[in-house]
Amino acid sequence: MKLAELGEFGLIDRIKANVAASPSVLLGIGDDAAALSPTPGQVTLITSDMLLEGVHFDLSFCDPFTLGRKSLSVNLSDVAAMGARPRHFLLGVALPKDVPLEFMDGFMAGMLEQAGRYGATLVGGDTCASKGGVAISVTALGEQRPELVLKRSGARPGDVVCVTGTVGDAAAGLKQLFGGVREGFLVRRQLDPTPRVEAGVALAEAGLVTAMIDVSDGVLQDMGHICEMSGVGARLELARLPLSDAYRAECGADPYPLALSGGEDYELLFSIPAGREPDVAALCASVGLPVSVIGEIKAGTGIELVAPDGSSYTPPRRGFDHFGAD
Ligand code: ADP
Ligand code: MG
Repeated sequence: MKLAELGEFGLIDRIKANVAASPSVLLGIGDDAAALSPTPGQVTLITSDMLLEGVHFDLSFCDPFTLGRKSLSVNLSDVAAMGARPRHFLLGVALPKDVPLEFMDGFMAGMLEQAGRYGATLVGGDTCASKGGVAISVTALGEQRPELVLKRSGARPGDVVCVTGTVGDAAAGLKQLFGGVREGFLVRRQLDPTPRVEAGVALAEAGLVTAMIDVSDGVLQDMGHICEMSGVGARLELARLPLSDAYRAECGADPYPLALSGGEDYELLFSIPAGREPDVAALCASVGLPVSVIGEIKAGTGIELVAPDGSSYTPPRRGFDHFGAD
C-alpha cells in the first residue's frame, strides 16, 4: 500500500494510534495545537533538528526503523546536552507520494520505541507531500530546574575538559558505508547513535559541570563553541582522546583527523572544575558510560592541540559545517 491511498489524515490517525497517553499531555495529536502541563519548578528546553534525504541519510544505507530512532536520538542528545530530561516532541515529515506505507510504519516504530525508552511523548507535528526526497524535522522539549540547566558558556580557565564514550566512530562508520560495508560497530555508531540522556541529567543534577555540549560536529568544532561562548581557550591532548578498538583498526594509521573533526558521535563534551575528575568518573560509571579527561580550559582564545610526542598539532580540517567547503 502506498501513502497516497491512506492519505494525510489516515497517516496521522495511524501515527496517533501508536502513541501512549501521558499525564503531562492535556491535548496531544488531533487538535490545532497540543496542550502540555509543565512540571512545577522546571523550565522547558526546546530544540529542533532536521534530517534530509541525501544530506543526512541515504535510504540505501539504513532501514526505516533505525532512521526513525536516529531522528529522535539526535534531538534527545541536544536536550541531554542541556542537562534536561526529555518530555515531549513534535514530528514534521515531508514524504514523496510513492513512499510505501511500510516505510512510515517502520520509521514510526523505531521513533516511538526510542521515545518510550527515554520518556518522551509525541504530541503533534506536520505532514506534507515532498516533490524531492524524504525530509524529517523533530522538535524536542525537555525539562530541568532552571539553576541546573547546563550551557556552553560556563567554562573557566583551569577547568578540566571531559568527553564521554569514544570519538570518531560515527565518521569512520560513514566512511565504511561509502565503501560498501553495511554492518559492524562503527556503522552502528553512525546509523544508530545513543543519546547520553542519563549521563547529561546526572551531571546536571550533581552540579559538577561548568559548560556542556553534545558532539554533533566533531570534538574540535564543538570545543570551539564552548570556548567562544565561554570567552576562553583550551588545550587538548591527542593521546587522551578516547578511541574505540574498532576505530583504531579502521583509522589507526592516522587517527587524529577524524577523531577531532568527525561528527555525529553524540557524546557529551564538558568542562568541570579541576579536582572533580573522580566524582565525574564515579557518576558516569553509575550510568555505565566511560568518561575521559582530554585537556583543560585556558585563558585567552583558540584551541591548542598537543600531539603524543609533545609537539603542536595542526589538524587538516576543523569539523562539519553545512555551508563550508566540501
Ligand atoms: P492543522 O491543519 O491545524 O495544522 P494538521 O491537519 O496539520 O493540523 O494536523 C492535525 C493534527 O495532527 C495536529 O494535532 C498535528 O499536530 C498532528 N500531526 C500532523 N502531522 C503529524 C505527525 N507527522 N506526527 C504527529 N502528529 C502530527
Ligand atoms: Mg489548524
